[in-house]
Amino acid sequence: MSNADPIVIVGGGQAAGQLADSLRREGYGGAVTVLCDEPMPPYQRPHLSKLYLAGILDHEKLLYRPRDFYAERGITVMSGRRATRVDAAARQLHLDDGSTLPYAGLALCTGAVARRLPVQDADASGVHCLRTLADCEQLRAALPAATRVVCVGGGLISLEAAGVMAAMGKHVTVLAAQHRVMESAGTPEVAAFFAAEHQKRGIDIRTGCSVTGIDTENGAVCAVLTARGERIPADLVLVGIGVEPEVALAQAAGLACDNGIVVDEFARTSVPSIVAAGDCTRHPNAILGRSLRLESVHNAVEQAKTAAATLCGKQRAYAQAPWFWSDQLGFRLQIVGLAGREPRTVLRGDPASGSFAVWCFEGERLVACQSVNRPREYMACRRMLENDLLPTPAEVAHPRFDPEARLPRKAPLAFQRRSVPGVVA
Ligand SMILES: Cc1cc2nc3c(=O)[nH]c(=O)nc-3n(C[C@H](O)[C@H](O)[C@H](O)COP(=O)(O)OP(=O)(O)OC[C@H]3O[C@@H](n4cnc5c(N)ncnc54)[C@H](O)[C@@H]3O)c2cc1C
Repeated sequence: MSNADPIVIVGGGQAAGQLADSLRREGYGGAVTVLCDEPMPPYQRPHLSKLYLAGILDHEKLLYRPRDFYAERGITVMSGRRATRVDAAARQLHLDDGSTLPYAGLALCTGAVARRLPVQDADASGVHCLRTLADCEQLRAALPAATRVVCVGGGLISLEAAGVMAAMGKHVTVLAAQHRVMESAGTPEVAAFFAAEHQKRGIDIRTGCSVTGIDTENGAVCAVLTARGERIPADLVLVGIGVEPEVALAQAAGLACDNGIVVDEFARTSVPSIVAAGDCTRHPNAILGRSLRLESVHNAVEQAKTAAATLCGKQRAYAQAPWFWSDQLGFRLQIVGLAGREPRTVLRGDPASGSFAVWCFEGERLVACQSVNRPREYMACRRMLENDLLPTPAEVAHPRFDPEARLPRKAPLAFQRRSVPGVVA
């Protein structure tokens, strides 16, 4: 591919926005087009369950880069247009208006779509999900008239939104099918802390409680039915039960997919000339020693940088400790690494103080840290994981353990250096 060939990016989230930006930073001089079926330039979803839902963030602040950023760099943004087919042999992208876009390099940053409740009347009026700006606008428009809200799902987005809606004076119930909230993301300690904080604010949290039906009146939701035989009155339901990777285009084009578009550490798919990045990919992680699909801003942004480098003919492997955050009820949860369901844990600090960290181990090996209002401890653990400077559980449990003192002065984070231990670029 020459420096004048066209590159097309499909997507309108952080991966697409970063990839376009990084192509220019890498010196790519050819035509770059970002194509997205949503009506605005690439934007950031995390605010949708936090400040934007609360009504205290301006619409333009959602944008990943300012509107004129793309034009200033000669990047064409085609919003409100959907890609319907990839013709990999002809290197052409077909759009929903019947037109085609030729490409020399194609990047799929198609993200994920919200999972629907598998029950009848899941699409009744008053039942919402929260993935896109349009979803959030609909939810915000419905909130003033709502008094009783049921959030289905015990994950981060459901809990964040529950907290925001409770602060608006709504009577909120959270229904989690698992035996505790945050089962996939949080350790039992962190989950117990957030469940208690939600309850203190009047949010009714019910665990082990799966939804079996939606009751309607004149086409609108009036109650949620559970497997325990409960009927919980509701005039608004928010369904937050996870996402499915958006792989339709990739699958139809014959790209290898397995719970996401399969890519290597350079973001290359199984078809030459096509890369993929973000929530839609399943990729290897050298630090964790396995392949996985991640749903996080960090992954979208950093994998997009690698994909851009690959399209520019440079090999820069993506291998970083995964991290993400969640803002709930005024607390900031920061997680680095993946803890697994039942990790061995060492608790530092007192949850009652609202500032603590849970260090997680597989046997003797440090695998994650989940901190609440302790950013320095989270950052120290991130440096440890990325530099393979791992303390034992006994060391972390020692009353005089100082995570920062343990690190050499300049232990860099993976994105700050060109090569990663264990990865051949
Ligand atoms: C409410 C909410 C809160 C979140 N909070 C956090 C948080 O606190 N911390 C964190 O780390 N992560 C958070 N996340 C997750 C984070 O937002 C995602 O990981 C991130 O958006 C992934 O970016 P992406 O670019 O891969 O995909 P997306 O942002 O999903 O973007 C994909 C885009 O591709 C478009 N598209 C798909 N198919 C086509 C097609 N055929 N043609 C044209 N366009 C197409 C979609 O419409 C979409 O615009 C949150 C997500 C949500 C929804």
